[in-house]
Amino acid sequence: MIEIRNLHKSFGSLEVLKGVNLSLEKGKVLVIIGPSGSGKTTLLRCMNLLEMPNAGSLKLGDSNLSFDGGRKPGKKDVLKLRQNTGMVFQSYNLFPHKTAIENVMEAQVVVQKRSKEEARSRSAELLAKVGLSGKEDAYPHELSGGQQQRVGIARALATNPEVMLFDEPTSALDPELVGEVLKVMKQLAAEGMTMVVVTHEMKFAAEAADTVVLMGDGVILEQGPPAQVLNRPSDGRAAEFLNLLT
Ligand code: ADP
Repeated sequence: MIEIRNLHKSFGSLEVLKGVNLSLEKGKVLVIIGPSGSGKTTLLRCMNLLEMPNAGSLKLGDSNLSFDGGRKPGKKDVLKLRQNTGMVFQSYNLFPHKTAIENVMEAQVVVQKRSKEEARSRSAELLAKVGLSGKEDAYPHELSGGQQQRVGIARALATNPEVMLFDEPTSALDPELVGEVLKVMKQLAAEGMTMVVVTHEMKFAAEAADTVVLMGDGVILEQGPPAQVLNRPSDGRAAEFLNLLT
């Protein structure tokens, strides 16, 4: 479903991704961990072109893009890739003046041109799926952080993406609200959704990941099944990072 080859990304003179290679099969969960500033979020944002890579290639679903030689994808290719990926942000990014259900409906009506009735019924189903039946008409400020993030997940699912991208989805939450969001993510994984998750939640990585990628300073230090990467990393820097967390 995803294949990334020799991906590079710089911001000005700061090289943030220094040649990243990874692949992910359909229905699998990839968790990206690593120290702050190592390039995790940038890598994730490159997967839906919220950041434009400077070199390398990206395959995702039936999008097949090369950035070598300064090549940039056309508008159509960007749109196609965006529609095929659902992004969940750390800070939810809900429209504050729209209700939960209106937030979930938005892209379906504006981008996918579904009728309002169709979008509303699909959105109600999605809100039920994330455990928010009865909250359809609540505004974001009337919801807890965990509930807002679950709306964020429903919204990301609304366009039927083949891949879900999660950027530290629980980092902004009070500790007691983290579990309800992780539960929804685990449920999605169990249903066979292909997912890439940047997180500091090591327990989630251990329990839900098929593959864990440990990044350090713009490169992948370790990549493999959670038991291997989390318990016996072969790279010294990886071991150091994991020890810091325990
Ligand atoms: P992580 O997610 O591992 O904490 P990031 O991908 O957010 O790391 O950031 C990696 C590096 O890139 C950091 O040094 C950060 O300051 C820098 N960076 C990220 N986004 C931008 C940007 N839009 N402009 C300039 N520098 C950026």
